[in-house]
Amino acid sequence: MPLIASWVPGANETSCGFPLNNLPCGVFGEPGARGRLCTAIGDSLLDLTGLAEAGLAPRLGTGPDPLRADVWNEVMAAGPAAWAALRERLTALLAEGAEEQAAVARHLRPLAGAELRLPFRVAEFTDFYSGRHHALMASRLLRGPEATLPPAWDHMPIGYNGRASSVVVSGTPVPRPWGQIRPDPGAGPLFAPSRRFDFELELGAIVGQPTAGPVTVARAEAMIFGYVLLNDWSARDIQAWEYQPLGPFQSKATATTISPWIVTAAALAPFRVAGPVPPVPLLPYLRPHAPLHPDIGLEVALAPAGGAETVIARTSAAELSYAAAQQLAHHTTSGCPMRVGDLLGSGTISGPAATARGSLLELSQGGTAPLALPGGQARTFLEDGDTVCLRGAAEGAGVRIGFGECHGRVLPAAPLPGDWPA
Ligand code: CA
Repeated sequence: MPLIASWVPGANETSCGFPLNNLPCGVFGEPGARGRLCTAIGDSLLDLTGLAEAGLAPRLGTGPDPLRADVWNEVMAAGPAAWAALRERLTALLAEGAEEQAAVARHLRPLAGAELRLPFRVAEFTDFYSGRHHALMASRLLRGPEATLPPAWDHMPIGYNGRASSVVVSGTPVPRPWGQIRPDPGAGPLFAPSRRFDFELELGAIVGQPTAGPVTVARAEAMIFGYVLLNDWSARDIQAWEYQPLGPFQSKATATTISPWIVTAAALAPFRVAGPVPPVPLLPYLRPHAPLHPDIGLEVALAPAGGAETVIARTSAAELSYAAAQQLAHHTTSGCPMRVGDLLGSGTISGPAATARGSLLELSQGGTAPLALPGGQARTFLEDGDTVCLRGAAEGAGVRIGFGECHGRVLPAAPLPGDWPA
């Protein structure tokens, strides 16, 4: 699909991640004030709540105006016809030659410096494990070189139920977690700050419609409202000690950072590709009916405290073995109700190349091969003061659909309560 030209400055530049084709969903607010729905266009943020108050936005649904809410859940609940109506109206208002240009321009403000908040109320968070290269490498690094993927891996998207309470928006600092670690396998565990704190490069899918029973992959695809970049911070030493047999628990519960912009499934629709061919045929209920994977180029940058950033990994969301629609369809098979605002983490996205690894666990080969950074620094795992920044964009035909940045800085472990037992 070609670029849709806009009258907003910067929106037609080929390097701009927020052309009119994108229209991502965010929330901004003045300090202390209620959040307002917004989109990004060019170098600007468009106040959609302001647009609704001025009577310039379409009326979505028959209840309270979802555009006047302070998160996107109410718009999602209004359903796919409402999502399409909003997108169509905004496209018309922001297109070159729009009659309403002067009235709409009053609701633009600079994107730079805006306070962006969590764009939706996270109902629940499920973390999948659908990146084959990561799953295999992580298994070998945690369990030994002979480890293989579990037998079920090639037949279904494996996941676990995570925590919604620890999902935070980009820019939120992340303190190093405390936990049980066992640095010496011959000795007992210690309670200490994690020494192997890591990031995970993932894509998050947001469920925009509820379910009350199993749904097909095609139905599941239509229920996905959009995607965010997602960093699933992971304490590898806590993980290695705790994870068998029920999986990660405290090692993944400190924080999960998401990008401030939800890029809609509609904006990514022209960029869908088929995923990797499964090594064995999938059961019919998991087979894709069409190309399902948004082809999003992804990168991870790491900046030490006070230092310049280095891009340490580049990969693509098309590497995932299961797309979000397959994960969602599988999630519903048990009868598990899915809710508006459920967040599905894709699993860490790594590619086959040594520079395409979505975690430091893999990039440093379990801490045995430090990653060199400019200025003589090296990393096995994250150090206090390090900032991790994920970026991603789908690109083609002169159009770039960007997510903005998903970043977070590691803080030293917080002091324990004064009555903590020694
Ligand atoms: Ca994860």
